[in-house]
Amino acid sequence: MRPQILFPLFASVRSLPGVGPKLERLLARLSCERVVDLLWLKPSGLIDRRARPAIAVAAEGQIATIEAKVEIHYPPRSPRRPYKVLLSDASGRLLLVFFRGEEAYLKGVLPLGETRIVSGRIEIFNDQRQMTHPDYILKPEDFAGLPLLEPVYPLTEGLTPKVLARIVHAALDHAPELPEWQDRPWLEKQHWPTWREAVRALHAPQSPAAIDPEAPERMRLAYDELLSNQLALLLIRTRMKRQRGRALVSEGILRKKALAALPFALTVGQRQALSEIDADMQAPARMMRLLQGDVGSGKTVIAFLALLAAVEAGAQGAMMAPTEILTRQHAGALEPLCRSVGLRMAVLTGREKGKPREAVLSALARGEIDILIGTHALFSEDVTFKDLGLAVIDEQHRFGVHQRLALQAKNGIPVDVLVMTATPIPRTLALTAYGDMDVSRLIEKPAGRMPVATRVLAQSRIDEVIAGLEREIAHGGRAYWVCPLVEESEAVDWAAAEARYRELHDHFGAHVGLVHGRMKGAEKDEVMARFKDGALKVLVSTTVIEVGVDVPEATVMIIDEAERFGLAQLHQLRGRVGRGTRPGTCILLYRPPLSDTGRRRLQVMRETDDGFKIAEEDLRLRGSGELLGTRQSGLPEFRLADLDFHGELLLAARDDAAMIVARDEGLLTPRGEALRTLLYLFGRDEAVRYLRSG
Ligand code: ADP
Ligand code: MG
Repeated sequence: MRPQILFPLFASVRSLPGVGPKLERLLARLSCERVVDLLWLKPSGLIDRRARPAIAVAAEGQIATIEAKVEIHYPPRSPRRPYKVLLSDASGRLLLVFFRGEEAYLKGVLPLGETRIVSGRIEIFNDQRQMTHPDYILKPEDFAGLPLLEPVYPLTEGLTPKVLARIVHAALDHAPELPEWQDRPWLEKQHWPTWREAVRALHAPQSPAAIDPEAPERMRLAYDELLSNQLALLLIRTRMKRQRGRALVSEGILRKKALAALPFALTVGQRQALSEIDADMQAPARMMRLLQGDVGSGKTVIAFLALLAAVEAGAQGAMMAPTEILTRQHAGALEPLCRSVGLRMAVLTGREKGKPREAVLSALARGEIDILIGTHALFSEDVTFKDLGLAVIDEQHRFGVHQRLALQAKNGIPVDVLVMTATPIPRTLALTAYGDMDVSRLIEKPAGRMPVATRVLAQSRIDEVIAGLEREIAHGGRAYWVCPLVEESEAVDWAAAEARYRELHDHFGAHVGLVHGRMKGAEKDEVMARFKDGALKVLVSTTVIEVGVDVPEATVMIIDEAERFGLAQLHQLRGRVGRGTRPGTCILLYRPPLSDTGRRRLQVMRETDDGFKIAEEDLRLRGSGELLGTRQSGLPEFRLADLDFHGELLLAARDDAAMIVARDEGLLTPRGEALRTLLYLFGRDEAVRYLRSG
């Protein structure tokens, strides 16, 4: 249970004075539902109102706070013109400009002949200094109420900066003094303040340096967040490992048969990864292993061989993919292999319904299915295995630690878990997302892969691209044409793909197909199948051609507005081609003008084919916040920590967490108690729950 001291922070924003249903709705758009969310709003900058120049020396563009006398009101001659008020000090004159100004109101706040303080941006127009809509108009005696350093927050329509600032301050007043969870000597060494002082400094800064990510206050908050992340993962990992899993021991008879049936030999890297997995499975502790490798590096076959070992040891295996299409593809690839070694395999997705679904479920419960392949439908409550021993989760960058725990809870059996991802996550980020797992990496690719030439072209050269495509198709090639990801709206996504489809249809007629996220699963599969068997030569799609789709004949990958994609995503898309006997081409179309970073990023794609290098470079060029696209990455989103600045802190937090767990695994010491509060503060409730259940 969440400690009582945190209750005010976890209350709804409605508990703050002046926040009603309307503000609640606006705040929800900033993901602020509870008081604590407001504290995590990170100012993007500061408005510095400390400059108090005489009017005559106020510089254009400067934010100035000016004390002056109200001289003349100029109500507009027509309603469309602005209302103006002239002010003066000993040095000169300043014109205040108000669009939609109400005369009565303005006369009230700016009474003729009186002195007022105004604060806002200085403009110069026709040699006249002016200020359009001052941010503040105050009586001189109220000067103390002017925030000299004002944090700038992300805004949403209908929510003014002033109102938001007021609400954040109300939230600050709700922030209690919390027990210190950090090691005191470490705090002293770093010169870090208490948690409460640190959040206060974030929202009511006393100096411009306070919002610098490397300011002590910011470092403290970042470290709190990183420590909560690392500690949570480590606690979970420690408990999971401690649980007596089972030793899945097999003699490798099925595997030998399967290897003989494969048309290729495993690479050294594959054998290495497999032996790491075998060792985990044979050990009585449970396996929590991540298998990381580029698209096409041959992860699926390893998973299959691991599943065979589980089955031979007398258990069942499950393999989960994030989408219907990928599930069908896996099933299609594994089916003949299963047959060759006499295994019973079944598929379960959201599409299996009624009788067929019941048949699968009851066969599964009776142990008459050895390997079940499916989407997250595998998590459904009515899915009961007779004896699940190994769960493989493929392309899982959309699953998080929660799902890994859910799997564990299934039937209460400690299941060995193998996670496969093609996302080339840089090491530091891997630590934040998979700190609870061991990692195997596949570096080399299977021999015989064709090189993929990458070209970067302006969108205006599309006619050339289409001409090239015609030639390629005449030579037996096939192409993917991917349309940009428009995050905000699936409808726009779809419209872009649809428009591209129509245009290509004029050239290629019935040889062009379209898949997008709004189509039903069966429709998508049908189009994919027609592309796979060659009836379609060009497949236009939104990014639903998931990483992992395997069409060896595909030779060309064209990506519209490539600058909008994450490099990791581009890399994965590019990995879809050059898998067969003909070399591949990848064409990255961009819409000019490209920013310097944009240009550099696309250049990286041209220069290297190494997924990890690409990921590191993307991290360097764009920062971790934007890496991998936002939503789909499944990496934890930090609210206060910014790995571009706080990467070192992450490593320190990892070591700190290791020390804490070594000394006080149950978090029972006074510091341990305080650390529980920290975990709850950052919403890592599952880690604390785990503490008890373990
Ligand atoms: P991933 O899951 O890592 O994207 P896959 O397992 O789907 O990669 O492998 C891609 C293709 O490479 C498949 O057609 C697979 O049969 C083939 N493949 C896998 N391992 C090897 C190997 N050692 N030698 C040759 N081809 C391989
Ligand atoms: Mg795959």
